Amino acid sequence: ACEKDEDKSNEPPSKNATYKPVEDLTDDEQIKIGFAMDTLLEERWLKDRELFKKAVEELGAEVEILAANGNDALQIWQAETLISKEIDLLVIVPHNAEATASIVEKAHSAGIKVVSYDRLVKNSDVDTYISYDNEQVGILQAKAITSLVPRGKYVYIGGAETDNNAQLLKKGVFKVLRPMIDKGEITVVFDQWTKDWLPTNAYENMKMALEANDYQIDAVIAANDATAGAVIQALEEHGLAGEIPVAGQDADLAAAQRIVQGTQTMTVYKPIKALAEKAAEIAVKLAKEEEVQEDRKVNNGKVEVPSILLSPIAVEESNLDETIIADGFHKREDVYNLT
Ligand code: BGC
Repeated sequence: ACEKDEDKSNEPPSKNATYKPVEDLTDDEQIKIGFAMDTLLEERWLKDRELFKKAVEELGAEVEILAANGNDALQIWQAETLISKEIDLLVIVPHNAEATASIVEKAHSAGIKVVSYDRLVKNSDVDTYISYDNEQVGILQAKAITSLVPRGKYVYIGGAETDNNAQLLKKGVFKVLRPMIDKGEITVVFDQWTKDWLPTNAYENMKMALEANDYQIDAVIAANDATAGAVIQALEEHGLAGEIPVAGQDADLAAAQRIVQGTQTMTVYKPIKALAEKAAEIAVKLAKEEEVQEDRKVNNGKVEVPSILLSPIAVEESNLDETIIADGFHKREDVYNLT
């Protein structure tokens, strides 16, 4: 071909150039994923962010990540920004399961598929959902606590009502508790959602639960480790920390340390690396319009969403070493405060 002066693809890029000239890019390199996260407040989301980026890049694609600090309007705006930057696929951790349906519509009208990451976008045509079995997380929590406290007064500190995961966790917990409640073995004396998953809200709820029950409660199931931390703080103020079993989830470092100290009974470990890598693989494949193998369908109120649900693992003091430490999720010296 007779290329004229405008073909500069063989010249070295200028000093300030961050991107190679378009002509130099292979098909793989051109894939760009947008990752619209909700929050980076809990420790796990920092892992999700880092591991997802690494996994996408290892597949030869690039990713732009934005986080919305728990703000619905901001999350919608950020997703629109990513869409306008011509991403090939959008991965979203919805703050609000219902409000984010509008993002799916916008992405679809721009020809962009959407993957629901960890949390399900409800009532939308979202293309794929990848998470853990969140109902199972609740089941593991309740089984661990009821085996220690087969009778007594229970407090349930839920997650954010607007997060579908919080609904699933609660469903799992009450699947285990219901038959015991019906037999009169246990009573749930307090049961509240935690607005926006904020520990300060969980702390206020826990204080209320304690006051309303004359500080006579026997067990607490909290929806995650951040809220469990708040529960334990409230218990500590009344000399009750370590006296009352508390369950959480996420295997946050602080929770693992509390398990060692004896103020938290258990957590649920969800290996984030597996989630991030699987999500990256699916995202890049869908962006390239390749076939993806999901193993099940989850109804989101509108459609049956092709889904992959990974298995959560119950962690207590006896298996800290063989789970989160063996996996390198946390360092042994950090968990046991050896430094
Ligand atoms: C996640 C939890 C997390 C919580 C708060 C849930 O949807 O599954 O791992 O602790 O959100 O961010």
